Amino acid sequence: MRFYILTLFPEMVRECLLTSILGRAAEKGILSFEAVNIRDYTRDKHKKVDDYPYGGGAGMLMQAQPVYDAWLSVVDRIGYRARTVYLTPQGYPFTQPMAKEFAQEDALIFLCGHYEGIDERVLEEIVTDYVSIGDYVLTGGELPAMVIADAVSRMVPGVLSNQESGSAESFEGNLLEYPQYSRPEEWHGKRVPPILLSGNHRKVDEWRREQSILRTKERRPDLLKKAVLTEKEKREHTYG
Ligand code: SAM
Repeated sequence: MRFYILTLFPEMVRECLLTSILGRAAEKGILSFEAVNIRDYTRDKHKKVDDYPYGGGAGMLMQAQPVYDAWLSVVDRIGYRARTVYLTPQGYPFTQPMAKEFAQEDALIFLCGHYEGIDERVLEEIVTDYVSIGDYVLTGGELPAMVIADAVSRMVPGVLSNQESGSAESFEGNLLEYPQYSRPEEWHGKRVPPILLSGNHRKVDEWRREQSILRTKERRPDLLKKAVLTEKEKREHTYG
């Protein structure tokens, strides 16, 4: 899967995406990341990429021309108009199902805004998806692009060494993951729950399921409403 990140700060993105698990997947050729500097495409002799917004107001706006030309150069190389995601607080909230859906694509283009954002006319022409990583405002789209590239990459087959670890995690079935423990058996006077040492896999699975439900109920009751529960689980955990 190929990721193209259109940004004014390519070095910020390159450094991050070529580290750890994603870096390993890139070395294996499963993923590729290319940070494209929008400034390289400006036709302004002073390399300017932003200007004042019409109608007044605070801040500067990224202009349409350099963004469009940077995007066009990527689309020409890909060979088709790949799905183009604009990271914006005005977008649809990013979720795990969205990560899985994006992971089906062969190529994805991320457009990172800066300053007060980007001239609406170019967004209308190139953007297929408006995506937000949360209800707060950041200085630029680079961190959101990295967040999404990371979550999507994990869903690409072969990126995680053990595919299992991508499928039994938080948000599967709208439940959060159960608590996990590693060695030693006792730390700061706290013992690992004995059931996990019992070797009884059925009991361990039952305990984990129960813990997932309890954790989701406590921390994300909104998610629990969407989870598929057995009649017994519903009686025990959702009413009363
Ligand atoms: N004026 C814009 C508004 O009110 O919607 C905010 C612009 S923000 C300062 C600059 C850039 O950061 C945006 O163009 C976008 O690319 C990125 N950004 C900021 N917060 C974000 C969020 N929560 N999710 C995704 N992208 C975000």
